[in-house]
Amino acid sequence: MRVVVAGGAGFLGSHLIDALLARGDEIVCLDNYVTGRPANIAHLVGNPAFTLMEGDVVASCDVDGPVDAVMNLASPASPKDYFSLPIETLDVGSIGTRNLLELALRNDAKFFMASTSEVYGDPLVHPQPETYWGHVNSIGERSMYDEAKRFSEALTMAYHRSKDVDVKIVRIFNTYGPRMQADDGRVVTNFIVQALRGEPLTIYGDGNQTRSFCYVADEISGFLALLDSDQTGPINIGNPGEFTMLELAEIIIELTGSPGVLIHESLPRDDPKQRQPDITLAKQHLGWEPAIQLREGLEKTIPYFAELLARG
Ligand code: NAD
Ligand code: UDP
Repeated sequence: MRVVVAGGAGFLGSHLIDALLARGDEIVCLDNYVTGRPANIAHLVGNPAFTLMEGDVVASCDVDGPVDAVMNLASPASPKDYFSLPIETLDVGSIGTRNLLELALRNDAKFFMASTSEVYGDPLVHPQPETYWGHVNSIGERSMYDEAKRFSEALTMAYHRSKDVDVKIVRIFNTYGPRMQADDGRVVTNFIVQALRGEPLTIYGDGNQTRSFCYVADEISGFLALLDSDQTGPINIGNPGEFTMLELAEIIIELTGSPGVLIHESLPRDDPKQRQPDITLAKQHLGWEPAIQLREGLEKTIPYFAELLARG
């Protein structure tokens, strides 16, 4: 397949491109580096199966030649990033998604939409099945991201229903692994970097809020299973192992040998209290479930951050 990956220079996009190239697909990567990095794809430059097109998908998405699939991962993703890029986040979720859907339509290509567990907001149903409509504050501090993704899902389904585009929507739950940026502000990054530096770990609020963390290789194998399936989704792809932030801190302290000091900082407004994917659909329809549990995934991730810090 010739696959367009929007957001391909980001954390997940670059791992996805590696996996697609490894199975023989050809890639066109679209990225404007607003939160991604050239370093994530530097190893691919010169690969004849890889084409890089630097640009903003909000402005245009013109790709020459045939396209078999369009995968839309373009969006700021960490709360720190989308808090600082609110309009850009809404634009890429709406106009950018529309431009990419039009590209898929013109080429009779599949369209894959990277949505998020944030569409469930601060969920009142736990764990979250795809049938849950969510509990989102449409004017809250996370709304630029949550509503952009909810709009992306709606737009994707509108192209599917009215224009017969073959679409696939994945709802991604907190994913971690090598190539995250050391300053992205996400909890796994902050805790590992703080622990490696011997600094206190910053627990927001009381630390009893929960998340379910998926190792990047598992997340990407879920994407490919969905891309190759006959499913439209939305389908949750995440690891159901659920941890409080205090538990996560404890594991990272143990694995890094950090002094283990915790400090509490204020909880961001509208911070979801709990999050855990119900992956029944992914198991039934894609034959997918995660293979790497949190401790093992962190053991694979900590050396990446150690090397990053050593390089300054
Ligand atoms: P990331 O910030 O590392 O990657 C996003 C990429 O999109 C970056 O390379 C960025 O430069 C690019 N981009 C953003 N706006 C663009 C635009 N207008 N034009 C072209 N490129 C643009 O984030 P990530 O963690 O790799 O997330 C990838 C996707 O997965 C995002 O859509 C995100 O919402 C979704 N997601 C990620 C997670 C997670 O845990 N990582 C969870 C839920 C959803
Ligand atoms: N968090 C924390 N300390 C940090 C960074 C985040 O306690 O240094 C908390 C944050 O308040 C949230 C959870 O960790 O409850 C996950 O945050 P992250 O930004 O990684 O992802 P999201 O909130 O989007 O799930």
